[in-house]
Amino acid sequence: MTAALIGVDLGGTSIRAAVAIGDVTHGEPVHRDTPAQDGPAAVLDAVAESARQAAGSAHIRGLAMGFPGPIDPGAGVVHDAPNMTGWNEVPAAAMLSERVGCPVVLCHDAAAAGFAELKAGAGRGARHLLFITVSTGIGGALFIDGDLYDGATGSAGEVGHTPISDDGPPCGQGHPGCLEGTSSGTAIATRTRAELAAGTASSLQGVDPATIDARAIVTAANGGDALSLQVFNDAGHALGRAIGGFINVLAPDVIVIGGGLIHAGDLLLKPARLAAAQIAFEIPYRRCKIVTAALGTDAGLIGAVAWAVRSFGGAAVEMR
Ligand SMILES: [Zn+2]
Repeated sequence: MTAALIGVDLGGTSIRAAVAIGDVTHGEPVHRDTPAQDGPAAVLDAVAESARQAAGSAHIRGLAMGFPGPIDPGAGVVHDAPNMTGWNEVPAAAMLSERVGCPVVLCHDAAAAGFAELKAGAGRGARHLLFITVSTGIGGALFIDGDLYDGATGSAGEVGHTPISDDGPPCGQGHPGCLEGTSSGTAIATRTRAELAAGTASSLQGVDPATIDARAIVTAANGGDALSLQVFNDAGHALGRAIGGFINVLAPDVIVIGGGLIHAGDLLLKPARLAAAQIAFEIPYRRCKIVTAALGTDAGLIGAVAWAVRSFGGAAVEMR
C-alpha cells in the first residue's frame, strides 16, 4: 500500500485537493464547492471527502491545508474566516485530523501561495522572498533563508496593513490609512465609485456603480480614462512606498506580487516601482527583483502540497 501526502487549498467558494507527487508537483486535483454557509463541520467534512478522493487507494499520512483567514498555525486553530460562516476559534487541524485519520497542518493561504512562488514560481531559487498578494484585500508572506517566517503568533507577513498615511481610507479591518485601504481592489473600486458619485469626469460616468469593480477600472484606464489612471497611479504609488520600506527593512532578493490585481500590470506596477525607488536604499533596491507571480490561481494548491512535503518530510509518495 502507498502512503501519500495531500495538499488542500480551501477557499470561500471552492475546495481543491491533490496528492503530492514530488516536492512541488501534484496529481489531478479534486474540485468541490465550499459549503461556506453551513459551518466548520460541514466544510471540514467536504475537505476530508476531497482529500480521500484525491488520495484514491493510497493511505493518507499527512495533510496540509491553506486557509483563507487568520489562523494560529502552531495550534492548528482558525481565529476567523471572513467569507465563511461560524469560524470563531475553531480547532480545525484537530477536527480535520479526526476526519482523515492523519496529522494535519494549517497554513495561511498567502503563505501557501508565496511558498509555491518560492519553490516553483517567480521566486524560485531566492533566499529571502517577500510575497505580496493584491486582490480584494492585500496579504503577504515572508520567507527568510528559504523558509516561512511567521513570527511569534503565526500572523507575520500582513503587509497590507502597513501604514501609508494618517488620514487615508480605512482597510477592511478599519485601520485608518493602511495600504489595503488605498491599493486593494476593493479600495480602488470604492474610491472610483465615490469620485463618480461626486461628479468627476470619467468614461465610467453613467455605468451602474454595482458593476464597477477593479477589472472594469483596469479596462477604463487602458482606454485612457483619466480618473481610472489617477486611481491606479495613487494605488501603485502607495504600494511602491510600502515596498520601498520593505526593501529597507528586509533587503530581500525578490518581491513577488501576486493576486487578482496583477492583471492591471503596469497601471499598478509602474508607479509602484517609481515610488519604491524614491524611498528604498539604492543597493538593496538594485539587488531586489520586483516581479509578478508566475503560478496564478494554481499557487494555493501547489503551495499546500509543497507545505505538506515540507511539514511531514520523506518522499511525497511512500511504499509501505
Ligand atoms: Zn489595515
